[in-house]
Amino acid sequence: MMNGEAVWTIPSPLQSIHHPLLERYRVNLSIKREDLIHHTISGNKWRKLKYNLIHARKRGVNLLITFGGAFSNHIYSTAAACKYFNLPLLIYLRGDHIDTHNPTLNFVQAHGAKIRLLSREEYRLKDSDRFLKEIKNEFPNALIVPEGGSNSLAIEGLKELGQELTVQMERSYDFLLVSAGTGCTAAGIIQSVPNEMRIEVYSALKGNFLIKDIQSYLSKEFNNWSLIQDFHFGGYAKTNESLINFINEFKRSTSICLDPIYTAKAMYGFFDRLQKGSYPKGSNVVFVHTGGLQGIKGYNYLNPHFQIVD
Ligand SMILES: *Cc1c(COP(=O)(O)O)cnc(C)c1O
Repeated sequence: MMNGEAVWTIPSPLQSIHHPLLERYRVNLSIKREDLIHHTISGNKWRKLKYNLIHARKRGVNLLITFGGAFSNHIYSTAAACKYFNLPLLIYLRGDHIDTHNPTLNFVQAHGAKIRLLSREEYRLKDSDRFLKEIKNEFPNALIVPEGGSNSLAIEGLKELGQELTVQMERSYDFLLVSAGTGCTAAGIIQSVPNEMRIEVYSALKGNFLIKDIQSYLSKEFNNWSLIQDFHFGGYAKTNESLINFINEFKRSTSICLDPIYTAKAMYGFFDRLQKGSYPKGSNVVFVHTGGLQGIKGYNYLNPHFQIVD
């Protein structure tokens, strides 16, 4: 690394994991380390942004506009990417004030992003025609990227994740596991890996709307996937002690960090299902580490008495 210059790691590594429980149940686990793509533009958020940024450049866009919560991985990665590629960014933030101690907001502001606040009610209407028209009137030359970075251009980048993995695989995998928020990442993967693989999509949210949402991102019917809904831990961004203990134990035994919002819930779910016999002996499993590790700082900031070790 020169002068702290950022290093890109694409293809992201496919790493074989050792853990006593994997040995006991004779299951092979590899992790697709999307968290290592870039230290700030990490994981699936880079995959989603890539073709949006290309589109912005081709169209001569002079501003990117997006939406998110105050601790969101999407606003963090988008701010880092826009700074890196020199594109001004405006974030419509859900909330009624800017907490000057919030590590995510400090990061995005330090990277030049401008913030406008939306109340909860306004935020709910952010995708309405009326609001989008208002934005377009004010900023005719902007590209508007939805919350989470999920749109059809994002799917194109996520298909590259699946293609890259397919090239890297030195053996066939029986199962692929991935976490889901909007389901866009899962949908890109479903369409781009060998159809024999069983894809388990671990929902980070409560409610089964994700089945429909994922289908809406697919170009045709696919029957290689299922949604697992037992590991949301009470809902989006909800956590408990056993999840945090799991993150810290996983870090101790594998040296790999998991974020508390997405990847930890999916990995916890995998180990839970492993111990219930969901994977036959000799199964080859690949877990997509979608990144999001900036969220650990936010968690630790909000929970000073129960820390994630990173
Ligand atoms: C945003 C995010 C997800 C969810 O991706 P979707 O495409 O919205 O399903 C999963 N993992 C991490 C780490 C994320 O930041």
